[in-house]
Amino acid sequence: MDFVRVEVLRRRMTVGRLVPRIFSAISGIILLLISAILMITIIGILPGLGLGSFSLFLIVASFSGGERFKCPRCGFEKNIALYGRHNATCSKCKQNIAIDWIRSEKTEKQKDAI
Ligand SMILES: [Zn+2]
Repeated sequence: MDFVRVEVLRRRMTVGRLVPRIFSAISGIILLLISAILMITIIGILPGLGLGSFSLFLIVASFSGGERFKCPRCGFEKNIALYGRHNATCSKCKQNIAIDWIRSEKTEKQKDAI
C-alpha cells in the first residue's frame, strides 16, 4: 500500500480558541454531575445516560485538539489529525497517511527545525 502525504494547516492556539475549550470542559463537568444526579433517581436513568455520554464527549473534545483533513485517496473529509501525531489512518479506506503540519503564521523557517 502506498504511503500518502497530506498537508494540514495547523491553526495557532490563541486565547480565542482556548476560551471555548475551557468553557466546554467546565460545562461538560457540570453536565456530568447533573447526569449523575439523574441516574441516582430511577426515572432519570435514561436521560442521565444520554447526558452523561454527551458530557464525556464534550470533555474529551475540549482536551484533544486536532484538525480535519481530506483523504487524498478516497476524498473522505471527516478524518481528524491529532496535534503532535505525524501519521493517521483514513477512517473510510484505511489508507496510511503521513501528516505534514503547516503553520499558518510566518514561521516557515522554523518548519525544518521541528
Ligand atoms: Zn480514504
